[in-house]
Amino acid sequence: MTWRVLAIALLAVVLSTSLLAQNPKIEISLPTDNDALFRGGGPDFYQYIERDFQGEKSTPWEGGRYGFVRNPVPTAQGLIYTRFHEGIDIRCLHRDARGEPLDDVRVIADGKVVHTNQVPGYSNYGRYIVIEHDWDGSPYYSLYGHLSEIAVSVGQRVNRGERIACMGHTGEGLNQARAHVHLELNLIFNRNFESWHDRNFRDPNYNGIYNGINLAGLDIARFFLEHEKRPDLSVPQFLAEEETFYKVIVPDSPHFDLRKFYPWMVKNVSANAKSWEVSFARSGVPLQIEARSEPVSQPTLSYVKKSAIDCAYLTRGELAGRGDHAHLTENGMRLMQLLTWPE
Ligand SMILES: [Zn+2]
Repeated sequence: MTWRVLAIALLAVVLSTSLLAQNPKIEISLPTDNDALFRGGGPDFYQYIERDFQGEKSTPWEGGRYGFVRNPVPTAQGLIYTRFHEGIDIRCLHRDARGEPLDDVRVIADGKVVHTNQVPGYSNYGRYIVIEHDWDGSPYYSLYGHLSEIAVSVGQRVNRGERIACMGHTGEGLNQARAHVHLELNLIFNRNFESWHDRNFRDPNYNGIYNGINLAGLDIARFFLEHEKRPDLSVPQFLAEEETFYKVIVPDSPHFDLRKFYPWMVKNVSANAKSWEVSFARSGVPLQIEARSEPVSQPTLSYVKKSAIDCAYLTRGELAGRGDHAHLTENGMRLMQLLTWPE
């Protein structure tokens, strides 16, 4: 190798690493062979659900999408879908002679295995895997549920596209016909989740801090579609497009992990903040954090988007009441306490 070639090679390395540091591009791909999401989604991509609406049975694929897609309730404003689905249900493509699913499940991005639940009865997700992704210094967690077999173990590094499991139908309310992988992309609330859980619930928590309650799933289908159009898209940019539905002020605390994990959420950095106002989407995903100079002694609802429909139907149970009567429910209050737990 001549000096000139060596110099050019070195320059290339320096350039590519500095580019990476400035613009850490996320590389993601779907977890199975099913890529119908990029051809309009619909029944080819989403696993249908079994619905019984006022005695009328149906199998709508729409129930496999992300968002408020389940449990319709008639209101004066029309039919409202009240039950939230935190991820997407991707249909099975390959089955053996007995009808068992064979689809390989692959990791959607480079990362590290942080949790595997091998006992179906320990979670509604059945057998599931959580993988941590470090994107621009913030932790994100992809979750793969209802697996039949898990092929990785905790601590293992995995590369995008690597096989991690086989599709199955483990977990709550599933059968062989409805085999699918449930996929989420999450933010995490608090490292002290376990003590919060033990204080508030009687049933044991088998899944540590990777219990679904401690994870907030963003709109992963929309993220895949937007990312396809704009490969430079970051999660902060993506979440900036989400609408704020309510805001809650929480006391200042050294355990307010959200602020440390996702510093880009903090709008005004302040050394003497007495409390923090957190903006949430309808989904319960936190969007923005604002320092405040006045203290609060407990989580306090400070804003709710105006709507004629009861907030109990529009949120995941964090709020109830209409208009000026909207308030944090007992569940909502508990969840907000998790943000700064144990204080
Ligand atoms: Zn699902």
